[in-house]
Amino acid sequence: MSDDILTSDTPTDLPNLVGQQRQKEVVLRAVRTDRIPHAYLFLGPLGVGKEAAALDLARALLCLSHHRGHGTTPAQVPCGDCPSCAQTNRLAHPNLKVLFPLPKPKKSSGDEQEDAEAWSDAQRKQIEEALAAKAKDAYSPLNVQGGSEILIEQIRVLRGEFRLTSFSGGWRVVVISQADRLRVQAANAFLKLLEEPPDNVLFLLTSSRESKLLQTIISRCQILRFPPLPEDVLTHELIGRRNVAQQTAEASARLAGGSWSQAIRWAEANPAAEMEKAVKLLRSLVKGDPGVLDGLVEEWSAPSKSEEFGNLLLLLGKWIRDVQRLDANPSGHPELAKDSALAKFTKFTEGRDHARAIELIEEARLDLERNVQPGFVAHHLFVHLWRQLFARQDSTV
Ligand SMILES: [Zn+2]
Repeated sequence: MSDDILTSDTPTDLPNLVGQQRQKEVVLRAVRTDRIPHAYLFLGPLGVGKEAAALDLARALLCLSHHRGHGTTPAQVPCGDCPSCAQTNRLAHPNLKVLFPLPKPKKSSGDEQEDAEAWSDAQRKQIEEALAAKAKDAYSPLNVQGGSEILIEQIRVLRGEFRLTSFSGGWRVVVISQADRLRVQAANAFLKLLEEPPDNVLFLLTSSRESKLLQTIISRCQILRFPPLPEDVLTHELIGRRNVAQQTAEASARLAGGSWSQAIRWAEANPAAEMEKAVKLLRSLVKGDPGVLDGLVEEWSAPSKSEEFGNLLLLLGKWIRDVQRLDANPSGHPELAKDSALAKFTKFTEGRDHARAIELIEEARLDLERNVQPGFVAHHLFVHLWRQLFARQDSTV
């Protein structure tokens, strides 16, 4: 059992952050000892809790119980009960700003305040919805259509607010989600703030793409890394927080790749049923029927299904990996041999190059991430999978 499990039964501090016990302790120690840096940079893959930690830390600092003075920090931060917590829970606290990549406003008038108002109604609605979803679920991604960078306009508005608001004591917290999406102009404007930080302002930057971050930004932040969550922690938390049944929780945790967001998605998607779909697809490829193949390509070529396609590939990969293990050592994996569908498929594809099949699936997943047309990815993958796993090998040899 890992430490996370031993302590997560009492999730009182930073209640939205799942697991990440060490990170939680680092942050809480800073709060309790009042040794908060000017800027934190939370690094790690998607869905492991960087933004949940940032928002919980913001809530803790802005919580009125925390403010009553040194040494009287309550046992639990944020308290969740005070008027300030009520505001931060809705992400509506005047001293909490959350910045994330937005689409460029339609026009630019040169007036900072007006620029910020220049999004269309539809865009503004999307922005509000993304924030509302985030307030409800700290793991909800802050994405809006066309939002590819954090804009200079957003930094200017922030700077203006720092200038205008008369400071009434306590902290002001700025969360910058996906800080790697600060491009040159906005990054330079932001750097000025970071170099001469206003009093009692904490910047909380998050990023899953460390290589895209400007060195000048990295060097001014205290870095805290968030690793992928272990499977046992994910299982335990799915059961504890979401009331997921043990077996589904375990299956979801295995597929989640260390991400809480993914674990939840799998738990909601019913991994066993999804796996059945993936296996059914493989079976339908067996005969190499061109009509069937075209039908499958057609089915998976819709851009709207690309996320679902990505999940399907993940499952296909897992299935073939299990087949490969069973094929290589039939007596060494009793838990796999128990699965009659898996055993049958292994027998059927005995001696085939499963490693190459896995590579093909991985390549397809990467292509999808690189926005290669799903129809093209599907066609290429299905044809080659059929060749690798099912096509009759040359009988003249
Ligand atoms: Zn509070």
